[in-house]
Amino acid sequence: MTMNRQGRQTAGEAGTEPADRLDTFTGNRGLRIEEPLIFEYGRERETGVDLPAGSEEESLRLGGLERRKPLDLPGLSEPETMRHYVRLSRSNYAIDSGIYPLGSCTMKHNPRLNEAVARLPGLSDIHPLQPVSTVQGALELIDTLAHWLKVATGLPAVAMSPKAGAHGELCGMMAIKAAHQAKGDARSIVLVPESAHGTNPATAALLGYKVETVPAREDGTVDPEAVRSKMSPQVAALMLTNPNTCGLFEPDVIEIAKAVHEAGAYFYCDGANFNAIQGRVRPGDLGVDAMHINLHKTFSTPHGGGGPGAGPVVLSEALAPFAPLPWVVSNGEQGFDLVEHAAEGDETRPFGRMTAFHGQMGMFVRALAWMMSHGSDGMRQAAEDAVLSANYVRACLSDLMSVPFPDHPSMHEVLFDDGFLYESDISTLDIAKALIDEGFHPMTIYFPLVVHGAMLIEPTESESKASLDLFVATLRDLVIAAKRGDRARFADAPRYAPRRRLDETTAARKPILCWLPRRPQADAAE
Ligand SMILES: *Cc1c(COP(=O)(O)O)cnc(C)c1O
Repeated sequence: MTMNRQGRQTAGEAGTEPADRLDTFTGNRGLRIEEPLIFEYGRERETGVDLPAGSEEESLRLGGLERRKPLDLPGLSEPETMRHYVRLSRSNYAIDSGIYPLGSCTMKHNPRLNEAVARLPGLSDIHPLQPVSTVQGALELIDTLAHWLKVATGLPAVAMSPKAGAHGELCGMMAIKAAHQAKGDARSIVLVPESAHGTNPATAALLGYKVETVPAREDGTVDPEAVRSKMSPQVAALMLTNPNTCGLFEPDVIEIAKAVHEAGAYFYCDGANFNAIQGRVRPGDLGVDAMHINLHKTFSTPHGGGGPGAGPVVLSEALAPFAPLPWVVSNGEQGFDLVEHAAEGDETRPFGRMTAFHGQMGMFVRALAWMMSHGSDGMRQAAEDAVLSANYVRACLSDLMSVPFPDHPSMHEVLFDDGFLYESDISTLDIAKALIDEGFHPMTIYFPLVVHGAMLIEPTESESKASLDLFVATLRDLVIAAKRGDRARFADAPRYAPRRRLDETTAARKPILCWLPRRPQADAAE
């Protein structure tokens, strides 16, 4: 075996390849090309463009700071460059290539209509520093989206600028902190249920709060009595995910909100799972004070490797005055304006800004295109279909796999634990890796932490029944093989992926983030 400079195996001399190497001369398999790093085959002297040589005088202008060594950039011709990136893109699994059942991620289809609208020059070729008179349509779009978000959630205000779910959490919690501070109330604790998404305690901790955990009930939901018993004048807020990360709707959410408000605290709801309830439930009716909405999950804007997120935060009457700048106002006939500074003597007391400009414009366009093309009835239908898909998967698998919380129906995602694997020596990880061999992106595994060996499946509304049936049949086949003790099928999985099992711990602990030329054999994973 030979190693490339990153410590990856490369095609070696004939006959020396390790067993898991592809056994072709090139290392390619069919039309799937084993693609090296661009640095590994780019040649310094090659180039796709002709640039004039720099003059002596120009370098004088740099005041002695000019580069002394070559940049060491790989040179490739234009067709080679094109091929490199196209081949890499083919190694990428995406929602456009198959079902992507990652629980808690809402990987739904991104309709091409959204893309067409986002590419309209009046929306894509504008700049945030343009005079507002020249971007009236874009401001109207932000205002319309804000309106839809407020109506859908039943809350009176929305901060549009946060750029992801976690960023939205930070925004909502900063508004809560500002509201307490305005009352001269320096509270220090944030309550977070055990089943929370990891970003919830992280957000609270980032703002200097002490995080206290609320244990989950036997049935996977939060007990209002447990919340009540943790309440004190020191508690600033409760952060609750609803539907929660076990895929369950919190049945006592109104009672929980009451307990929070009685203690003078605010109720932050993690709304990343809004896809399950949009059009059916208005969080404002449940007593929510702040909630972020992941436009990139609920309203189908591409995310993960596919694009940036957007996490607007809806706010209650109590928190609205503290919303961050900027915001769009409609001046009727005179059009729209952007408020960039709080005015003297104003009732609003913005806590600051979350971003340099106004938020993720491209995602606003896509989200609004999705909402308007669905209409309010279509949004409700999407939620119902997403819930139906998850419960269909659950019903098709619950005779073979273990459902830890059987008392409640699933919402948008179904949670299994590894109880059904106890008798075998196959793990949740093995099941996930074997799914890759079958051509499926695995479900979320080992999250949430409240059950052992979690497998969290979120099919979303965009999968057809045929697609779900194939996924279910594949999982059934794998589970039966696991129960039969077919160790071979799992031990080597994934056998057909470009990479086998990576040392994920070392990759996370000792990441190599840049390519170093002439480095001796790397000691960390890719
Ligand atoms: C996805 C998710 C988040 C975080 O959203 P990002 O956009 O990834 O920052 C927070 N909470 C829950 C429940 C989520 O599913």
